[in-house]
Amino acid sequence: MTLRLAQRTEGVTQSEIRKMTLECNKVGGVNLSQGVCDLEVPPVLREALKQAVDEGFNTYTRFDGLDSLRHAIAGDLKARHGWQVDPEREVVVTVGSTGAFMAACLALLDPGDEVLLPEPYYGYHRNCLRALGGVAVPVRHQAPFDIDFDALRAALTPRTRAIMACTPANPTGKVWTRAELEALRDLAVEHDLFVFTDEIYEHFVYDGREHVPPATIEGLGERTITLSGFSKTYAITGWRIGYLVAPAQVAEKISYFVDIAYVCAPSVLQEAVARALAELPPSYYQQICADHLAKRDQVCDALRAADLPPHVPQGSYYVLADVSRLPGATSKERVMHLLRTSGVASVPGSAFFEDPRAGDHLARFCYAKKDADLQRACEALREMAG
Ligand code: PLP
Repeated sequence: MTLRLAQRTEGVTQSEIRKMTLECNKVGGVNLSQGVCDLEVPPVLREALKQAVDEGFNTYTRFDGLDSLRHAIAGDLKARHGWQVDPEREVVVTVGSTGAFMAACLALLDPGDEVLLPEPYYGYHRNCLRALGGVAVPVRHQAPFDIDFDALRAALTPRTRAIMACTPANPTGKVWTRAELEALRDLAVEHDLFVFTDEIYEHFVYDGREHVPPATIEGLGERTITLSGFSKTYAITGWRIGYLVAPAQVAEKISYFVDIAYVCAPSVLQEAVARALAELPPSYYQQICADHLAKRDQVCDALRAADLPPHVPQGSYYVLADVSRLPGATSKERVMHLLRTSGVASVPGSAFFEDPRAGDHLARFCYAKKDADLQRACEALREMAG
């Protein structure tokens, strides 16, 4: 082809996760690669959507979202965390938390600005930064993935503008502790950095740990862009409803980029989510957490039985396992071997590291799956033992 593409296309490719889904479909395997979450959508939400369609929520909304949803989000944050946010000026509804991150990067980062990403990282964070001209600076973390502040400090340069705190994290399942968030605050204040968070798995936190939104740490709120959404909590990854919370002046600027990129999130879907968020009781969230804890334990047991030792996650719904005993020189070869021999699809560890060889001993398994599928996958893994 002679037509020239933009330089930013270099190095931006289809995610390894989507590729594994295609490979899995070819062999009719059980897909524990993509975090699509094929669980039931809460009936309250489905009903709310039908009503919103009948009631005619058909037009553009304000670019920062419907009043009903911004207010429901603010009410939810107040109820769960005692966190007081202004729904008129500090909450922006977006097309997924992915859309929130993109708009936030457009508003906050200039080309060449560096953002520290604890590694292993979620590939979209890196790719989004890269697509927009920012520089993702991976900072290697070792299991059990406690935050290594020495390593973060060592990675700082005069171009560092922000740090990403993904909690609970994909792919590690790491849940940042209050003490870590306070240390993050100290670092951010000292070096005048923004903090991007990604709290999309906030309801999936296990073993008595708590999810602490970084913005609720004293002195961190004024420099934090909180990203979250409903894809995982309500099993609606395809609805694309997310949001961000930021200080008013920052939120306003970010909203302009939401407007430029896609005007607003789909109105009927916003209204449906607003109603579900206002109506669903705490027990709904406790139940999804308990269900996923049981799934975590089930898949970790099966991985142990298969001699693929898991790094037991503190939160989220993924587990990294050590697959170094499987034949193959790379993580891709190892997960392809696993798929061929057991019918279980996972994501090669290399997808979560800058250095393509760094994750060769790892694979990521998603356990947000229907019981029957997870059961099938676990049985297949157990059969691999030895
Ligand atoms: N953030 C993380 C850490 C994720 O793992 C995912 C999906 O896998 C997303 C964001 C996507 O969120 P959304 O559907 O709100 O764009």
